[in-house]
Amino acid sequence: MNAPAMKTNTQAVTRSVFPTFEQVFQGFAGQIGMLREMAPPPSLPAERRVARAIDTLVEETNADEAVWLESCIHCGQCTNACHFFLATGEAKYAPMRKMDLYRRVYQREISPLRWWYRLVTRAVQLADLEAAQELVYDACSECGRCAMVCPMGIDTASLVHHMRSALVAAELVPPELAALRMEQKHRHTVFGASAEALRTMVETIGEHHGVAIPLDKERAEVMVLSSAVDLVANGNGLLATARVMNHLGVDWTICSDAYESANFGLLSGDMALWEELVDPIVAAAERVGAKTLVIAECGHAYPALRWNPMLHGGDLPFEMSFMSEYLGRQARAGNLRLRPLKGRVTFHDPCKTGRRGGAFEEPRALLAAMDADLVELPANKEYNWCCGGGAGIFLLERATRLRDEAFKIKMRQVDETGAEAVIVSCASCRLNFEAGRVKNQWNKRVESLVELVADHLIDDEPVRAEGVAA
Ligand code: SF4
Ligand code: SF4
Repeated sequence: MNAPAMKTNTQAVTRSVFPTFEQVFQGFAGQIGMLREMAPPPSLPAERRVARAIDTLVEETNADEAVWLESCIHCGQCTNACHFFLATGEAKYAPMRKMDLYRRVYQREISPLRWWYRLVTRAVQLADLEAAQELVYDACSECGRCAMVCPMGIDTASLVHHMRSALVAAELVPPELAALRMEQKHRHTVFGASAEALRTMVETIGEHHGVAIPLDKERAEVMVLSSAVDLVANGNGLLATARVMNHLGVDWTICSDAYESANFGLLSGDMALWEELVDPIVAAAERVGAKTLVIAECGHAYPALRWNPMLHGGDLPFEMSFMSEYLGRQARAGNLRLRPLKGRVTFHDPCKTGRRGGAFEEPRALLAAMDADLVELPANKEYNWCCGGGAGIFLLERATRLRDEAFKIKMRQVDETGAEAVIVSCASCRLNFEAGRVKNQWNKRVESLVELVADHLIDDEPVRAEGVAA
């Protein structure tokens, strides 16, 4: 049991030493702008890049992929399920069009009729792969919404992900993702969020807020991951996490050799890096004897961690939970004492933890524990619309128009609820909502669920952060 310095004055409001999220967003936007210049240039000749892309698709095509590529009946049901098609009306953004190039490779290289397809279809060129880059990185957030309506059960998001792998092999990752992929590959961190940055953040939180963070305990029941955004910019995120974990009184730790939730292997499509980044986290959780690994508010980290060991037959000795999933279970068990949340709110389900992860009820249990006046979005849970920034799209400068148009769907839906604030449980969604809020001068607050919970703990002092109703 950890014994942090706890304060009891529920009326007092402490001013956070960390910037508001609006300031975090402005600083982060500046850093993203620099990524384009840091991307490595292609090093291989064109023919080699094309061959590597084709080999990757052939290697990654199993029975599921073959059936999906064979079975599209072009019914068009998926078109209006996709925010990028709906927002632009441009045919190239229809989900079934995003698989065209993969289908061509399948037909020419794998299909039983490949001898025929080689006669009637063009061989794939580098220009085809270059044209596919925008479709699979900018125009698909791998949200999975189109699969919900496809009568043939085609999972376009999975096919798009294989295309991303092929484009990694062809050295065609968009520059922002390419820069972050290289940083995480060589320095095992992103945005400079080093172990030293973690230690500094832990010291700052202890010194200025009197909140203890048990770093590098040898044994702990719960291992918590952080994220680069929290370590280099949004200190309020890690502060909130620590306050809630301490309030719960659980035996927890953060490991300075395995603390990062973000996985730019998964986001870029680099399957080898994806796994390479998961391994030390799994090893650290096993070393400390964790029964639960809690993943930070980072949507894509959930599939990166939750599904990777399972895909490789791993039978893990601990459970993996997303932050809001873990806290929702604690709320249901009566372990969180929370003050009522003021004002009407709505909740945005991150695609990766919701539709593709199934964690719908736990964040709602947390909101219920705060007696929140929750109004659901017109399309919610399995049918929730992506905010437009998922799967790394938030980072891509070229995707700005697409992202902005797609975000307007989300804005209209939030407006329909009459809510004063939209609550999110993914840092990437939050950054995208913040970008949309600022750009559209939108009169809604965008709140992090874990930060709201921390600021509504009974017997703990609220912290004045951006937009928090104390
Ligand atoms: S809904 Fe399915 S079968 Fe119909 S066009 Fe889309 S991907 Fe093809
Ligand atoms: S997975 Fe989402 S973004 Fe991608 S095509 Fe389907 S609906 Fe559109």
